[in-house]
Amino acid sequence: MDTGIIAGLLRQKSGQKIEVLGFQPVGGGSINAAYKVITTAAPFFLKVNRGAQAAPMFAAEVKGLNLLRRFSDFTIPQVINLHTQGNATYLLMEFIEAAGRGAGYWRELAVKLAGLHRQTADAFGLHHDNFIGSLPQANTKTADWPTFFARHRIAPMLKLAFDRNLVDKGFKRDVEAVLNRLTSMMPTEPPALLHGDLWSGNLMVDAAGAPCLVDPAVYYGHREMDLAFAHLFGGFSAEFYRAYAEVYPLEPGFEERLDLYNLYPLFVHLNLFGGSYFGQVNAIISRFT
Ligand code: ADP
Repeated sequence: MDTGIIAGLLRQKSGQKIEVLGFQPVGGGSINAAYKVITTAAPFFLKVNRGAQAAPMFAAEVKGLNLLRRFSDFTIPQVINLHTQGNATYLLMEFIEAAGRGAGYWRELAVKLAGLHRQTADAFGLHHDNFIGSLPQANTKTADWPTFFARHRIAPMLKLAFDRNLVDKGFKRDVEAVLNRLTSMMPTEPPALLHGDLWSGNLMVDAAGAPCLVDPAVYYGHREMDLAFAHLFGGFSAEFYRAYAEVYPLEPGFEERLDLYNLYPLFVHLNLFGGSYFGQVNAIISRFT
C-alpha cells in the first residue's frame, strides 16, 4: 500500500499533516480490498480496487452514501476522498468503530429503514446509474414497478447469464413468462428509496451501538426488495421484521412473494459467483411458472 498517496489524500481533505502509521486488512467485503488506516489522528477506512471499472464503481458508491446520509437517520460513514492514480482507485471514508448492538438496535434499524422507505420520488429508478457488486445497475426512470423490475433488474441479468452459458434458451423463456405476469403478483406502492444491497455484511453497528449502513446500491424501488434481500442470507433478527411491520405495515402475502424479489440478488450472484446459484434461481422460477 502506498503510504504517501494515502497521507496526501488525508492531508488534502483535512489541511492537517496526518501521518499514516499502518494498514490493517478488513475482511467481509466481496469485491474490493479494504483496510483500516492507522494514523496519528483518527483511523480511516480505505477501499482499493485496481480494476478498469473501479473509478465509476466508487463514484457511484459515494453518491449512494451521500444520498443515504441526506435522506435517512442512519449512521452512514462520511466520505473523505475518492482518488484514481494509475490503475488504482482509492475510496477513503470515516472508520466506523464497531461496538456491540445497543438494546434497541433491531427496532431502531426497522424505524430508520421505514423512514428511508418513506422517501419517495415521481418514478422508479434514479437520476444516475450505479452498480450491484461489480455489475452495472441501470436506474432508468420508469412509471411502474413491475416494468422497472422486469426491464431494468431481471432482463439484464438474464441476458448476461444467457450470454455466459449459465442458463439455456428454455429457461430464458420460462423466466420471461414469469416476468409477464408480475403485475398481478406485486402490490402497487409508491417508489421508495432503497439501500439496494441490504444483506447483513452491509449492516454494521456504530460506536454507540446503533445501526450503520455501508456499500449501498441505492434507487427508488419497491420497499419489499430491501426486506426480501435481508431475508435471503439471514442475520437479521425476527424483532426487526416485527418492528418494521408495526411502523410501516406491508400488504398481506409478503412471505409468498419474497422469492420473486430475490430473483434479482440471486441472478446477480449467479453472474458474479457462478453456476452454484442456478439451483436457487431455478427453484423460484419453477414455483412461479
Ligand atoms: P465491498 O465493496 O468489497 O463489498 P464493503 O464496503 O462491503 O466492501 O466493506 C467490507 C467490510 O468492511 C464490510 O463488511 C464492513 O464490515 C467493513 N466496513 C465497511 N465500511 C466500513 C467503515 N466505514 N468503517 C469500518 N468498517 C467498514
